Amino acid sequence: MTFKDLGLIEPILRAVTEKGYISPTPIQEQSIPILLKKKDLLGCAQTGTGKTAAFTIPILQHLATEKQTSQRRQIKSLIVTPTRELALQIEDNIKEYGKYTSLKSTVIFGGVNQNPQVNRLRQGIDILVATPGRLLDLINQGFISLSQIEYFVLDEADQMLDMGFIHDIKKIIAKLPKERQSLFFSATMAKPIVDLSNQILGHPEKVTIKPEQTTADKVTQSLYMVSNEDKIKLLVELIAARNAKSVLVFSRTKHGANKVVKLLEREEINAAAIHGNKTQAARVKALNSFKDASIKVLVATDIAARGIDVSELELVVNYDLPNIPETYVHRIGRTGRAKASGEAVSFCSAEERSWLRAIQKLIKTDIPLVQDHPYHDTSPEEAPPKQGGGGGRRQGGGGKRPQRSSKPRR
Ligand code: AMP
Repeated sequence: MTFKDLGLIEPILRAVTEKGYISPTPIQEQSIPILLKKKDLLGCAQTGTGKTAAFTIPILQHLATEKQTSQRRQIKSLIVTPTRELALQIEDNIKEYGKYTSLKSTVIFGGVNQNPQVNRLRQGIDILVATPGRLLDLINQGFISLSQIEYFVLDEADQMLDMGFIHDIKKIIAKLPKERQSLFFSATMAKPIVDLSNQILGHPEKVTIKPEQTTADKVTQSLYMVSNEDKIKLLVELIAARNAKSVLVFSRTKHGANKVVKLLEREEINAAAIHGNKTQAARVKALNSFKDASIKVLVATDIAARGIDVSELELVVNYDLPNIPETYVHRIGRTGRAKASGEAVSFCSAEERSWLRAIQKLIKTDIPLVQDHPYHDTSPEEAPPKQGGGGGRRQGGGGKRPQRSSKPRR
């Protein structure tokens, strides 16, 4: 199957070829034909599957081939996504896939001055990528009208609910025209998510891409038993031994992420942290420095890292194991993206072993154990760190995050 077989128009085919994509990923192969027929779609897939192209390309194609009905550009497509990082990445992709069309897009999110965003909106745009809060703000101030929306996408619905955006989403849906094409994506499909999808979609076609299919196969995984105190030494040695140029390190907590950066810098390894307590400017700066390789190591919490799209990411290190097993699959999916294969290394301390068991149960494999290193820790298992207090808080903006009960696998 090629992109041409999917019936894409020449300007989009040219842009996709320039991106170096040879064939569509499974979610693209399955979703693009459905979306080109203007059907609603319920997609169970996470980032790393090529999901963004799967929904942005058909929208671009529809808009590029539609007749302009009014003189002024009006917002015809709205993509709502939970985080600024994801919003920026989606808009980047739209600009890339749409570079040979005359369509205009922009992105809006909170935490920054609204004026530049309002100015761009005033110039007229076809596609708007937005986070929920700022979108509602600008609608209420009269800068945005959703009355002409023909294509609506709700991305990362499960994360939206985890972050407490449900009321915002409902307000946004209420403002959309009834006649529209709707797309709904979520990595998991627990009941509240299915309920929400029923409110948005008509009679959708369903596409499910299992995480195992997208990540674990292509990623070389390994496990190191190591005490919390020795983790930093092991990390420094691994980075040196691999001579890695871009390493994404996951920390369970914001405080932990800052600490790892400090310790790496002490070893003269350029690093930056990205998490919810950093300002938007600091996050964008860290991400850009990582992308252009001026820093070698990015230390991230799960929420901040979700959707980070860095091609050529060589190594993902789980400095702390996640307490939610699905998060492991999300994390290692940051490497071994559509193009390349990658490596994911996990550190496990005596108190993280119960989480390790949960992860191995989910991925249905034992992660190969590396014992041949100076920090191999044979001490007996300990109780897991407490959640909810001090530095051990879950990310996700406060409230207790529900354990995901429905697993994205058979
Ligand atoms: P996404 O799931 O949208 O975050 O995409 C994951 C990564 O795969 C991004 O780096 C995309 O640029 C890349 N990608 C998307 N589609 C393809 C494709 N058909 N071939 C190769 N790479 C792709």
